[in-house]
Amino acid sequence: AKARGKNTFHFFSQDLNDAANERLLIENKLREAIREQQFLLYYQPKIDIRNNSITGYEALLRWLTPDNILIPPLRFISVAESTGLIVQIGEWIIWEGCRFLTRQHSRGHNVTLSINLSARQFNDDNLPEIIERILIRTGANPASITFEITESMLMGDTDAAINQLNQLKRLGVSLSIDDFGTGYSSLSYLKRFPVDELKIDRSFVKDIPDDRNDMNIVAAIIAMAQKMNLRVVAEGVETAEQVEFLRRNACYQVQGYYFSTPLAEQELGRLNYVINR
Ligand code: C2E
Ligand code: CA
Ligand code: CA
Ligand code: CA
Repeated sequence: AKARGKNTFHFFSQDLNDAANERLLIENKLREAIREQQFLLYYQPKIDIRNNSITGYEALLRWLTPDNILIPPLRFISVAESTGLIVQIGEWIIWEGCRFLTRQHSRGHNVTLSINLSARQFNDDNLPEIIERILIRTGANPASITFEITESMLMGDTDAAINQLNQLKRLGVSLSIDDFGTGYSSLSYLKRFPVDELKIDRSFVKDIPDDRNDMNIVAAIIAMAQKMNLRVVAEGVETAEQVEFLRRNACYQVQGYYFSTPLAEQELGRLNYVINR
C-alpha cells in the first residue's frame, strides 16, 4: 500500500493483515485436512423430469473438520485455489468420484457423474494424463463422466483452452460449461469449444416464474443448446413451477433442492426416485 495519509494507511494495513492471517490459517488447516483425509464428496442427483428418474450425480466437495463441522466449498476453495493446494485436492476428487462411479455401476446403477474442475486444475498440462491414469486404475467408464468447467476458464488463452478440452475429450469423457450465462462467452466462442453440455446457472432459475427476463434468458439458452446439439441441464431448481417451466421448454435434465440436496453416498439409497436401469 502507498501512503494515503497516516490513518487511512493504518486502517488498510490492519485490514489486509487480518485477511492475510485468515488465509494463512485456512491454508495451514487445509494442509492438515489433506494429510488427515478430512475431505469427502457429497452427491446431488441429476433428475430426468420426464419420468422422475435419477440419471446421475454431481460430486460436490465437503470438508469435515475433526470437531465434526461440515464446511461447504465456497468457504475454502479460493484459498485452495490461490495456494495451489486445489491441484492435490482436485486429484483426490477425481479418484474418489471414479471409485464412486465404479461402485454404482457394479450395483447395476447405470448413472453418470459430473465432476467440477478448478481453474488451476484445468490449466495443468498434466491433467489429461492424471485423469487417464485414474480411469485405468479405477476402471471407471469415461462415457459416464462429465467434467464441469466455467466460462472464465475458457476466456484467457482460448487456443490453450481448446487444446486442453480436446485432450480431455480424447479420453472419452464429456465436458460441460458450468454456471452458463454468468460469464462473458460469446456465441462465436462457444462454437469453437468442443463441449457437450451447458449448465444453466441457478441465478437465472431462482426467480422463475416471477421474473420474465430470466424466463426469456433460460428459454433462449435451452433453444440455443438444442440448435447447437448440446445437452442442457438446469441447476438450482427448487419449486414445482420451475420444473413445469423447464418441462414446457424441453429442458429435461435438472438438479436442485426440489428433488434433493447433495447427500453422502450412504444416504443415496433412501431417495424415492427411480434409478435408471
Ligand atoms: P456449483 O458447481 O455451481 O455447484 C452447485 C452449488 O449449488 C452446490 O453448492 C449445491 O449444493 C448448490 N445447490 C444445488 N441445488 C441447489 C438449490 O436448489 N438451491 C440452492 N440454493 N443451491 C443449490 P456447494 O456444494 O456449496 O458448492 C458451491 C461451489 O463450490 C460449486 O458451485 C463449485 O463452484 C464449488 N465446488 C464444489 N465442489 C467442488 C469440487 O469438487 N471441485 C471444485 N473445483 N469446485 C467445487
Ligand atoms: Ca458444478
Ligand atoms: Ca453450477
Ligand atoms: Ca452456480
